[in-house]
Amino acid sequence: MRAAMDKIRMTTPLVEMDGDEMTRVLWQWIKEELLTPFIDLKTEYYDLGLVNRDACLDRVTVEAANAVKRLGVGVKCATITPNAQRVTEYGLKEMYKSPNGTIRAILDGTVFRTPIIVRGITPTVRTWTQPISIARHAYGDIYKASELYVDGPARAELVVTYPDGRKESKEIFSFRAPGVLMGMHNTDASIASFAHACFNYALDTKRDLWFSAKDTISKIYDHRFKDIFAEIFETEYRERFAAAGIEYFYTLIDDAVARVIRSPGGMIWACKNYDGDVMSDMVATAFGSLAMMTSVLVSPDGKYEYEAAHGTVTRHYYKYKEGQTTSTNSVATIYAWSGALRKRAQMDGLTELERFADKLEKAVIDTIESGVMTKDLAAISTLDNIRTVDSLTFIRAIRHTLEENL
Ligand code: NAP
Ligand code: MG
Repeated sequence: MRAAMDKIRMTTPLVEMDGDEMTRVLWQWIKEELLTPFIDLKTEYYDLGLVNRDACLDRVTVEAANAVKRLGVGVKCATITPNAQRVTEYGLKEMYKSPNGTIRAILDGTVFRTPIIVRGITPTVRTWTQPISIARHAYGDIYKASELYVDGPARAELVVTYPDGRKESKEIFSFRAPGVLMGMHNTDASIASFAHACFNYALDTKRDLWFSAKDTISKIYDHRFKDIFAEIFETEYRERFAAAGIEYFYTLIDDAVARVIRSPGGMIWACKNYDGDVMSDMVATAFGSLAMMTSVLVSPDGKYEYEAAHGTVTRHYYKYKEGQTTSTNSVATIYAWSGALRKRAQMDGLTELERFADKLEKAVIDTIESGVMTKDLAAISTLDNIRTVDSLTFIRAIRHTLEENL
């Protein structure tokens, strides 16, 4: 343990959002073993655990999101999104909304998901040697659509009414028999925010950006996405991309799918809401494990919130509560911390803190590549000297590697 004055200095606090169940347990261990012994850790703490969210009627989630707006960088533990069963389990006053949804709405952000690559865990697609990040537009389309079942012959039309009473309409289909119908929307403002978040993230991480949609078929709807991206790129980003040596291009979704599979990876792939939902599960699975997937929410004005992509690992938590040891993977949660610390360090010009973030990630990779890992990774690793360990032993092994590397 270093003396307080020898610890790595921070100037601005991180917004720390604690969470639930097994990840809340890991959170504490990560801080005790991997952070506070080395860093003079400064955080503004918000308890997003379900018990506290219930005590304050979820006000804490809003306060935490506003703190990220004010301070610029946050790190979040996984949290329970209550359903009926959770209302009973925790005796909740209300069935609160998803904290991630609340935070995303306040920050108006885009979520970028990126797998962590280690030797011994081979992607299903053998050409992929670098991570692929999926940027998912998290607003509108089929997620905010109105649907109807048409139960017999009927004429369906789209009707738009402007405030001055002007109307525009278009036939969708003349049904001769039963069928289904859907109306969906998006807004120029939301598409533009998405585009800015993607361009900024590409510049930030110095990686190419691909954007795909289906503008050949959807000549107004998807074409609008393509045009907004193109216009913002031309006016605000083309020169900065050239200076950074990175590329932006648009291609049809079918072409993108084929090219991604043949590529070595490394790009950021911006997807519309549904495409992003589906493709991020495909990419995560093909890279190996949900427990190795990081996630960062980036707002159009450059605020960052880091987290793991997985949930609170409930099944493991119930075992833990009964006094059993679990072998829960803490890698994505550790990377949420290292990502947030690195971003804080870059914003505040703290080179020692930035170097620590790099070394912490390297210690995680070195530990796994030495054969020490949790059960989920052991099940898919091709290394031949595997030692499967419990949650805390894994974190302590990382600490040991980190101390040697420092
Ligand atoms: P989950 O917590 O991600 O866990 C699903 C299963 O995946 C686990 O039971 C475990 O499989 C495996 N797994 C996930 N993360 C792992 C890790 N770090 N190490 C080892 N194995 C891991 O998803 P869920 O069970 O659907 O959801 C549980 C709770 O999390 C829910 O209340 C949900 O609302 C919440 N949630 C929160 C977030 C968030 O805050 N971002 C995201 C998703 C879900 P085995 O049991 O087979 O070992
Ligand atoms: Mg999904």
